[in-house]
Formats: sequence, structure tokens, C-alpha cells
Amino acid sequence: MAKDLIQDNQYNIGHICTRQQCEAGNADKVAMRWVSSHLERIDYTFSDLDAESNRFANALKTLGLGSGDVFFTFLPKMPEQFFAFLGALKHQVICGTLFSNFGEDALLDRLGDAGAKCVITKKSFLKKISRIRTQLPALRHIIVVDGEDDPANGIIGYQSLMAAASPEFTAELTSADTPSVLHYTSGSTGKPKGVLHRHNSVLSQNKTAREILQLDPDDIFWCTADQGWVTGTSYGIIGPWSIGVTQLHFGGGYDAAIWFDLLEQERVTIWYSAPTALRMLMREEPEIFTGRKLESLRHIFSVGEPLNPEVILWSRRTLNHDIYDTWFQTETGAIMISNRPGLAILPGSMGKPVDGIEAAIIADDGTPVADGEQGNLCVKPGWPSMFTTYLNNDEVYQQKFRNGYYYTGDTAYRDSDGYFWFMGRSDDVINTAGHLVSPFEVESALLEIPEIAESGVIGVPDELLFEKVVAFVHLHAQYTWSQELELKVRLYVSNKASSIATPQEIFVVDSIPKNKSGKIMRRVLKARYMGTDAGDISTLDI
Ligand code: AMP
Repeated sequence: MAKDLIQDNQYNIGHICTRQQCEAGNADKVAMRWVSSHLERIDYTFSDLDAESNRFANALKTLGLGSGDVFFTFLPKMPEQFFAFLGALKHQVICGTLFSNFGEDALLDRLGDAGAKCVITKKSFLKKISRIRTQLPALRHIIVVDGEDDPANGIIGYQSLMAAASPEFTAELTSADTPSVLHYTSGSTGKPKGVLHRHNSVLSQNKTAREILQLDPDDIFWCTADQGWVTGTSYGIIGPWSIGVTQLHFGGGYDAAIWFDLLEQERVTIWYSAPTALRMLMREEPEIFTGRKLESLRHIFSVGEPLNPEVILWSRRTLNHDIYDTWFQTETGAIMISNRPGLAILPGSMGKPVDGIEAAIIADDGTPVADGEQGNLCVKPGWPSMFTTYLNNDEVYQQKFRNGYYYTGDTAYRDSDGYFWFMGRSDDVINTAGHLVSPFEVESALLEIPEIAESGVIGVPDELLFEKVVAFVHLHAQYTWSQELELKVRLYVSNKASSIATPQEIFVVDSIPKNKSGKIMRRVLKARYMGTDAGDISTLDI
């Protein structure tokens, strides 16, 4: 464990990332260099981060939230998101983060399942919540960052709330087991599952930030991940700030020229991004990268999807840097397997387990698989950031632990040198641009459209996104397919699920293949799409 990370048994993540940093002499050090989408810069010191998160903790207390209550952020990347996240944790409120592109159904599933008492959002997103509000009896308060108080509707303006709150707050002594962060993850069946973490997770996030990302206090770190995703909280907030590192956060989206201006001008030393973004960079005109002064940049890391060898080779050629692939998932809370400086990269491999992590390839029956053979990627339970349950779904949580291992849902193989190679998922979950999309959620949204009788959704390989979402729909007899209907379908899925989940291709078919118990045979749809053999279809109901 890092010396002095846990002081006097205080595991509180909010405290460790702010007050503790101030006490260690970092009060005036820049914690966050905020660059807005319009390229305005604001620096927040650790002392600012402490005061703002204290105000937010006090505000939640005034609103009647307490230990174990659930609060969500539903915001794009913006400074208030960081204050709210850390403030909630300081007050031992469980903090969930929602992608800002989520639609109504996605919000309802998550806010409803968690029994959220409070959410912070912005005016332009309010409509989505208002439309589902009556179905969320536990939701008492909506804080609007750019809004005014509207008590009749339970809406509170952020500015007035914060102005009335004291910047002094002392986090209660928080145990390692106190629940902390909540992220919803998609499965291939049923509703999304709430992955619950505990304050103890800071141990893994701090250790991997130091030992894998190689952060030390003088670094300027940029993690491009959205805070809706575990990477955005574990490494866009907790890991780096628990070390007192300055983070760059950028409010704009992908823009190659701006990104490279930022890397250069802000003298970023460690950069953590994702394969889709790196592949997009690879397609840019080479002039964008020529003459760049990137001598501050020490290392580039990647996470979320397989990193193709071509990207590493491109980066070596163009940026004069390796890219280190890292593997983890919402449930693991921190990097488990990775490449890292000092370990030879085998392009295409995820690298080796992190120190203290025992990863293995295990067959369904629990027997270890020989090196070179594909099997279930498993991790020996017990690492500090291991999730503690799926909220309201402990049965499924327990099913993930078998034969003395946690089954990650991925398939992989290990070579004789101990490197791990990702093969795929053992379920139907789609990984598009690093976001896990549940085919079930998209199929459900499609079925709400009156014209659609049946639907089946799959992920198929895509050069840029790793996988793209493809839908097969069967229409009710009285309807015919048209451009208008296609547009309606796309908009509907985007508004209900999310823009990420919106099918890139839609095929109208006479029927959706199902097995005898009515389960959609996505494997058969995929084989049809790919023009390959569907394998055993003896259970197909035809
Ligand atoms: P999430 O829980 O949304 O972070 O998604 C985790 C999943 O993304 C993993 O179970 C993998 O399927 C995939 N994933 C994450 N990192 C990598 C990687 N480096 N290589 C291949 N797949 C990855």
C-alpha cells in the first residue's frame, strides 16, 4: 500500500482525494486544469476541490441524504460533476454516474433500481427526467447546475444550494467496507446491473495508478474517459487525486487537432485513452501530428476494447511512443491485466496481471486450461476494488463466483510466457467504442415501436468501433418498411436507450430465429450477417 494512503483508518475516498492532499502540502497545487469545449481554462487547486466538495457534502446533508442513500450525476464532463462526486462520497452517500447520452428508459432502469433520492443534472437534460419522474417515487430532489429553485417540482438550483452551504466539512470515519461508487453495466439478458463498490477500492486504484500508469506527483495526467464509465471514476478521479496528481479535464469531444494542442500546450505527461479514439487518430491526416512538441509526454495507455497491433505500430511511427493496453471492467474497479513500461509489449496482447492479481484461464467446469487454449478469463477473488454486489441482484453476483474464481464474462488465452490475449465475450454483450451495450435493452426499445413485432440485436465486427450494433426487425403484417420508419426507429432507440445503442444497420426480416423456449438465437443472426455457419441449430424453433 502507498505510504500514508490510509491514515487513522480513514478510507473515505472523498477525503483522501481532497482534504488529505491539502494536509500533505498540496493545498495550492492545481488538482484540475479544466478546459471547456470553448477552450476556456480554469484551474482548481486541491484546496478548491476540498471546499467545493465540502459544500456539496453539506448540501446533500441539508437535503436529508445520509449514509447509504443513492445519488446520481447525470451530466456531461464539467467541474460540478467532480465536486458532486467527491462531496457525495465524503458524506458516505453512494454515488452513481450516468452517461449524458442516456435516454428515458436507460435512466428509469438505473434511477429506479437504485432507489435514487437525488440526481444532479443540467437544464437541457431535465426533460428526460421529468418524463419519468412519476415512476421514481424515491427521487426527492433534482439539482440543476444551470437552473433556478423550483420547489413545487422538487428542483433546486445548484448555485443557490452551494452558496448556502459551508465550505467546511469533516468526513466521518469511513470503513473500508462502506459502499461508495455505483455503475450500471449491461448484460445480454435482463435489465442493467448495478455494480456496487466500496471505499476500500481506493487501494487498488491508487496502486495501479502508481505502478501501471506510473503516475507520480509531478505528472500531468489526462484520462479522456467519460465519468459515466468506471474508467472515468477510477482513473479520471480517484486514482490520480489519491496521489495528488494534477489532472487535465477537457469538456469537448473528439477533435484530433484540439487533442494534440492540449497534449502539447498542457504538457501532459501521461495520457489514458481508448482504442476507438486512437483508431480515429490513425485515420487523420499525418500533418496533424508533424512538428508536435510532445517531449513532456512519457506514456500512453489504452483501455476498454482490444487494442489492435496496427495502432501500436502507428503510434511508434507517428508519435514515437508505445501504447500500453490495460484490461479491466466495471466489476473489477481497477486495472487487473496490463502492459506497462518495463514489460516488453507483444502487440495484440493485454499484457500480464498486475502485481497481487491472480488471473487464470478456466474451463466452465473449473479446471484450468492449458497455455495457448481459449477459456474463461477469471480472477482470484480478494482484490481491494472487487465489487461487493449487484444491487438488488445478489443472486447473479454469487453466480459470477465459481470454482474459487470470479468469472469475468470474457474469453481469452494465456501464452507460455504468461501474456493474456483477449478473444471475446462469453455472452452477447456488444462492445461498441468501449461502451457495453445490452442487446436486450435495444430489443426491448425496438419492441415498444408499434410497427415492430419482433426484434433481434447483435454486435458485428467494425473497423473503427470494434463492434457495431445491428438490428433485425420483423414488422407487423400491416406495415411496410420506409425511410421515415427507419428514422423513427433510430430516434426512438436513441431517446429511450442511448445514442451509443442506436443500431448502425437495420434489416427487415420475415422472422427472428428463436429456440424452443423462445430465446432469441443471436448466434444464428450473427452467422447470417457474417455469412458463416451457425453451428448447432437443433434447438431452433422453425
Ligand atoms: P466495462 O465494464 O464497461 O468497463 O467493460 C468491460 C469489458 O470491456 C471487459 O469485460 C472486456 O470485454 C472489454 N475490455 C476492457 N478492456 C479491454 C481490453 N484492454 N481489451 C479487450 N477488451 C477489453
